[in-house]
Order: sequence, then C-alpha cells, then structure tokens
Amino acid sequence: ASFEEVQLTEIIRQNIASARYDTPTPVQKYAIPIILGRRDVMACAQTGSGKTAAFLVPILDQMYEQGPPANMQRSQRRKQFPLGLVLAPTRELATQIYDESKKFAYRSRVRPCVVYGGSNIVEQMKELDRGCHLLVATPGRLIDMLERGKIGLDHCRFLVLDEADRMLDMGFEPQIRSILEKDSMPRTGIRQTLMFSATFPSPIQMLARDFLDNYIFLAV
Ligand code: AMP
Repeated sequence: ASFEEVQLTEIIRQNIASARYDTPTPVQKYAIPIILGRRDVMACAQTGSGKTAAFLVPILDQMYEQGPPANMQRSQRRKQFPLGLVLAPTRELATQIYDESKKFAYRSRVRPCVVYGGSNIVEQMKELDRGCHLLVATPGRLIDMLERGKIGLDHCRFLVLDEADRMLDMGFEPQIRSILEKDSMPRTGIRQTLMFSATFPSPIQMLARDFLDNYIFLAV
C-alpha cells in the first residue's frame, strides 16, 4: 500500500513525501479514505500507530479541496474562527499534534495554532492573532480562549477528540461536553467528528453516541 492509492491534493501529497512517509500505517490505510468520505469515525488506536496523520491528512486535504474559506484570506483579527479543532489531553500531546500539522500544512494557506494550559496565555493570544485555521488545544485553555472571545467555533467543520480515554481519565469530561454543546458549535452533519481512543469503555461509548453521527467504528 502507498499514499498514492488515495486521491489527495497536490500540497498534501508533496508534504507527505517531504515528511518521508512512504507507506501508510494500518490506521492511516483504513481511516484516511473513510474520513475523506465525510464519515464520522470512532477509532481505537494507540500512540505510535500513526493516528495523528490518520486524521490530519484527510482534514487538511478537505480544507485545501474546499478552497480558501473567507477566513483563510484574513489573518489579522481579534477573534479567530478555526475550521478544524483538535482536542488533546496534555501539552505534550497537543504540541506533537501541532508539530505534525505544520508538516502537512507547509506551503498551504492553512495556519495551525496550539494552545494549552500552564503557559503564557498572552503569548498564545498573539499567535492566534496571526491567523488560526486549525486549532490544537487542551480543553481548559480552549474554554478560557472562548470566554475571552479570542476563539469562535461557528466555522468548525472538523472536530477531533484525540486520546479521548485519557481526557476522561484526567477529568475533562465536563469541559469536553461544554465545548461540544456550545450553541455556536456546528451540528453533526455540518461538522465531521472523529474520536481516537486506546480503549473503548462505556463513558467513551457514551461520548461517541452523544457527539458522533452514524459513525464508523475502526479497531486496528
Ligand atoms: P503517532 O502515533 O501519530 O504519534 O505517530 C507516531 C510516529 O510515527 C510519529 O513520529 C510520526 O511522525 C511517525 N509516522 C506516522 N505515520 C508514519 C508513516 N506513514 N510513515 C513513517 N512514519 C510515520
């Protein structure tokens, strides 16, 4: 199998080649075509499985495919409306996802940003001011940014809950539910939702039932 087997935009194909990813990992092989087909996905995948690229590649591909939305033109503004949101449990994971997203967003008009707690919020707000189309965030810091009016979720077409079981273990369920239940968050059907988790216990099943739409279950 190779990445050439799926139809991807030229920018993504070049950036995959630059990252020296020749062969898709199993989760990439199965998840990428499903996500490109606009389905919601609940995937059981461990760290190290290549799950990050499994969601970033098809999300960024769809962003490039759909052409530049209005907010991709304007960068300097007080409030940012990301097209994609990735929620992650820790600063370390959020940073890893952000670093991976920069590889695949290279030479595109999509600008990724990362925000997490325990770090200077003013500096993170300055970064957001430069434009944010794909936001990687820990739940608490995202809520802070929403309350400060720095981020609006109105244009969020892609939502990822990464390491969902770890987020629940860390007590983030109320924050996750409050973010996903915001009136400004686009409904399922408009929003594509992807959930990644190493385990699939009942609290995770309930999250999937509440926030995913007719999802495909993938275990690799
Ligand atoms: P992840 O499970 O997403 O944290 O990825 C684990 C590591 O594998 C990361 O360092 C990725 O950069 C790398 N990786 C992911 N997919 C591929 C691939 N198809 N080929 C080579 N390396 C990859």
